[in-house]
Amino acid sequence: MIYDIVIIGAGPAGLSAAVYGQRAGKKTLLIDVRGFGGQILNTPEVENYPGIKKVSGFEFASGLYEQASGQGAEIVYEKAVGIEAGNPMVVRTETGSYEARAVILATGAKNRPLGIPTEEKFAGAGVSYCATCDGAFFRGRTVAVIGGGNTALEDAEVLSGLAEKVYLVHRRDRFRGEQAGVKRLLTKDNVEFVLDSVPVEILGEMTVSGLKVRDVKTEAERILDVQGIFVAIGQMPDNVDFADVAELDETGYIAAGEDCLTKTPGLFTAGDCRTKKVRQLTTAAADGAVAALAAVDYINGL
Ligand code: NAP
Repeated sequence: MIYDIVIIGAGPAGLSAAVYGQRAGKKTLLIDVRGFGGQILNTPEVENYPGIKKVSGFEFASGLYEQASGQGAEIVYEKAVGIEAGNPMVVRTETGSYEARAVILATGAKNRPLGIPTEEKFAGAGVSYCATCDGAFFRGRTVAVIGGGNTALEDAEVLSGLAEKVYLVHRRDRFRGEQAGVKRLLTKDNVEFVLDSVPVEILGEMTVSGLKVRDVKTEAERILDVQGIFVAIGQMPDNVDFADVAELDETGYIAAGEDCLTKTPGLFTAGDCRTKKVRQLTTAAADGAVAALAAVDYINGL
């Protein structure tokens, strides 16, 4: 069968696109290798989505998934590995292929690693990229959070309620994240800011036993006695498999404007995976609507 719209990525952008696609009467398929929800699953509380005072990331994603599937969208859990342009377009996955009149790339972004030598060795053995998922394993222990954005601030706050002590390690003396978050952390007795500092080595035998950090101004090194390290230094895109049909910028994001169009007719993009300034839940949902309606117009014009 030929789907009207195949959406690669079932995070907030992809799921929103599915809602709009189905409501426009188009048969829609979502493809995601990890499951539905995307990065919002890692956010304990969403307090800035218009019209919803407070909701957990999981609840938000579940509600959106139910909305999309309730409208008739289908979902498969496979890794998309390529797209062949044409009519129909073909989306290849690791295990098969799907035909569609239009395709929306909503691949999101993945966690950026620190890139220090022992990081990979300790992933899952003390090094984590998700405080919401793994924080409970460090109840009563000492942990470090790396980063200065909203994710790091939120992670440090969540962990301060679980761990005995939290070091917040940031490479500058100013935070990129919101002041409100910084202020809340300053009231916590068990949170210590380690500013102007970068991680240089993760220490340990089988599991993490320490983090060596270097002060970027004085060059002085210090070892933090931690059993857990939460890396929260932002995201990076993962679009290389689609570079032949969608132009990528120098950092790997899909080059597209607010109209969500790519260089290939019938191929659209939505959410964190495209070039844009503000990557928020609201802008991901908005992109989903824009891309789906553009796809609907495209299909109707075929
Ligand atoms: P981010 O805003 O890009 O911040 C990344 C942080 O990591 C920055 O402070 C950066 O330092 C630091 N960093 C980057 N590379 C590093 C490296 N190699 N070594 C050490 N530090 C490094 O990422 P994010 O916090 O994940 O947030 C991503 C987006 O989601 C943002 O738009 C954010 O506002 C949004 N978000 C919103 C909420 C919310 O509204 N509730 C929650 C979470 C995230 P510099 O500051 O020096 O560049």
